[in-house]
Amino acid sequence: MTSNTLFLSYVMRQFESAAQTLGISQDLSEVLRRPERSVIVSLPCRMDNGELKVFTGYRVQHNSARGPYKGGIRYHPNITLEEVTALAMLMTWKCAVMDIPFGGAKGGIACDPKGMSQAELERLTRKYTMAISSIIGPYLDIPAPDVYTDAQTMAWVMDTYSKVKNEPTPAVVTGKPISLGGSEGRNEATGMGVAIVTREASKRLKRPLKDARIVVQGFGNAGYASAWFLQQMGCRIIAVSDSKGGIYSKEGLEVEKVLEHKRRTGSVINYEKAENITNDELLELECDFLIPAALENQITERNADRIKALAVVEAANGPTTPEADRVLFEKGTLVVPDILANAGGVTVSYFEWVQNLTRTKWSIEDVRTNLEGKMVRSFEDVMRSAEEYGVSARQAAMIVAVKRVAEAVEALGSWP
Ligand code: GLU
Repeated sequence: MTSNTLFLSYVMRQFESAAQTLGISQDLSEVLRRPERSVIVSLPCRMDNGELKVFTGYRVQHNSARGPYKGGIRYHPNITLEEVTALAMLMTWKCAVMDIPFGGAKGGIACDPKGMSQAELERLTRKYTMAISSIIGPYLDIPAPDVYTDAQTMAWVMDTYSKVKNEPTPAVVTGKPISLGGSEGRNEATGMGVAIVTREASKRLKRPLKDARIVVQGFGNAGYASAWFLQQMGCRIIAVSDSKGGIYSKEGLEVEKVLEHKRRTGSVINYEKAENITNDELLELECDFLIPAALENQITERNADRIKALAVVEAANGPTTPEADRVLFEKGTLVVPDILANAGGVTVSYFEWVQNLTRTKWSIEDVRTNLEGKMVRSFEDVMRSAEEYGVSARQAAMIVAVKRVAEAVEALGSWP
């Protein structure tokens, strides 16, 4: 089995277990288990050297009972339909656990964005948008950034879609540049949400954030912003990493300086005020909060018993396998699950969409206050459900989410 097939089976198992606890009927489970629509598109794209390369793109729309489909677009060489399907399903649960009126979707293109020029990325993004333009839209399916896509990517999607439809349509994507109707605070929203739930977890665990040791795996948008906000809250960021490796400093790293170093050299490694470590060593460091902020399947049965963190806060989607989850639960390690921990991004996406549709502009203070309120409320919903059912925070989050989606699907009925 490939790791993406495994990942899909893990996400499915999380669902099955919640559906079982809730006593959801076989019929309803059957509906929720499958995506409503999966689209695979072939994308012939002219490269800068004149060569024509054919890429494969995906958009999977899992469920729309609670509102339009919502979810990012990922560019990565290893993307498959299974991975995008699993991520789409997670988006449905994520929007439900946050109680925002969206369903779940995900998209992606199998490509190596690091080896492509801006012009190539623009052509590929526009090709992809053309190819899926009939199944996205401001009231249908609203893409956003994900791994290796950003505000610029969203600007291209918005422009292509607007030209195809012959009307400017900012609400078709979120995570746009602010100049095009993007929201204040969207760029750093995932990291801010991670920091808020880490703070809430620290209160529960009675481990004050002042001087708390933080380890962050992944230094992309989510990893960097999580580290930045946590540093502002008084934490010590003792290790960070990217795909090339990690760095460790007992005294703590200056997050902005590490970013400068990464911009200059292409990686966090070889930072002068720290020691190089491997990604495996990083995950096993003695620390208070471990924040996986890279890709899926990082904490597995192979390393779970060596995780020394007091709590794991999942900034990435799907970083912990079910076997590892069980080991951590038995050890008493709190795992704040992805669909809650990294939901700050989609929550501010929702705020952006509302601003676009109502032709309003919120201040950064409005965005932050509303995000804070939503994150804290959902954290409490999940913890309450964990106590009520005597389960882990992941199972509890899934129970809250699946219950909300199942109720919506039932209320809609089945037509035609
Ligand atoms: N890609 C982000 C996620 O996995 C954000 C999705 C969105 O804003 O629609 O949650």
